Amino acid sequence: MTSATVTQMKCACPSCNCIVSISDAVQKEGKYYCGDACANGHPNGSGCSHHGCECHA
Ligand SMILES: [Zn+2]
Ligand SMILES: [Zn+2]
Ligand SMILES: [Zn+2]
Repeated sequence: MTSATVTQMKCACPSCNCIVSISDAVQKEGKYYCGDACANGHPNGSGCSHHGCECHA
């Protein structure tokens, strides 16, 4: 069975530029994030730790 489902999308964190695969993403409240830091809103002010991405609170 084939599907045309989108499998990648931008992290839902507004300041994050990472593209995440839905299968790998951290899901929270129906949104997809590249990691726990983004999903939790960067509680410690730390970035997502992805190279070249400077998103944080
Ligand atoms: Zn990022
Ligand atoms: Zn992110
Ligand atoms: Zn982020």
